[in-house]
Amino acid sequence: MKDLHELKLIRELTHFRDDLIQCHELDRVYVEGNSYPIIAFSIGNQSDSVPTLGLFGGVHGLERVGSHVVITYLTSLFKQLSWDQELRETFKHCKIVSIPLINPGGMSLHKRSNPNGVDLMRNAPTESNSENPTFLVSGHRLSARLPWYRGEEGRPMEIESQALVNFCKDQFFNSPATITMDFHSGFGMKDRLWFPYARTSAPFPNIKQVQNLVDILDETIPHHIYQIEPQFDSYTISGDLWDYIYDLHREENKENNSILIPWTLEMGSWIWVKKNPLQIFTAGGFFNPIKSHRYDRTMRRHMLLIDFLFRASRNYQSWK
Ligand SMILES: [Zn+2]
Repeated sequence: MKDLHELKLIRELTHFRDDLIQCHELDRVYVEGNSYPIIAFSIGNQSDSVPTLGLFGGVHGLERVGSHVVITYLTSLFKQLSWDQELRETFKHCKIVSIPLINPGGMSLHKRSNPNGVDLMRNAPTESNSENPTFLVSGHRLSARLPWYRGEEGRPMEIESQALVNFCKDQFFNSPATITMDFHSGFGMKDRLWFPYARTSAPFPNIKQVQNLVDILDETIPHHIYQIEPQFDSYTISGDLWDYIYDLHREENKENNSILIPWTLEMGSWIWVKKNPLQIFTAGGFFNPIKSHRYDRTMRRHMLLIDFLFRASRNYQSWK
């Protein structure tokens, strides 16, 4: 089987033997005679009703750096669990769940979409009510040959999308508080933290909790680099998976007090290209840092944010 560098790193993570770490193969994607697993991790208390942090990457096959940030964090965490008893104690009361590479087939083909040509982040059954959709970018059903294709009308979601939705339902739909972060790259000069909605500028029901979280982030990490905004500030889209998962979770939790805040980190790749224009001629050069010092800096800079979010998910009373 043709192997993928990122899957090799993820397989190495599955070899850690620790009773706090569970690995799951959620499904497999078949591409040109090869098959690639969608691998998930659940670390800590396995109940679906503990505070949870979710880390996701590789929805878009060209954006390898997102998977790398998640894999780097998990590798460090797994090593730390081998010696840090306080951390082990912490995980008795909470968990981190993760799918570091949601679209391995797309990544193997050097494509943004999955192998069927579907942009997974346009694939959910949610419709934008925007009066100003951006041509193609907002999602369309014209042709799988064009980028941002949503898939055929009325068809079930793609297996990668469905695997993500099912995993979220299994892992944290009864949690008192869950924060998820989905790592992407490509849009703009800055690193942006986006919160819902992507499909509409109508108020997001948990905007107050988002503001509380942003306040404690600003106070705790005053020199952070993130521009924080609702996703619709940049563009609106139909079929956003996190809009869909957020709405599903909200629908199922009308009666109780569970909360889910799904975030997207869009790493601004234009700055990498600006500083090293020739990289656009390399594979994935538009979406990933190529020079090693820039790659290292990218791996380092988001670790602090992930640690903050892990603490915030455990201490949800402070912002919920
Ligand atoms: Zn993306």
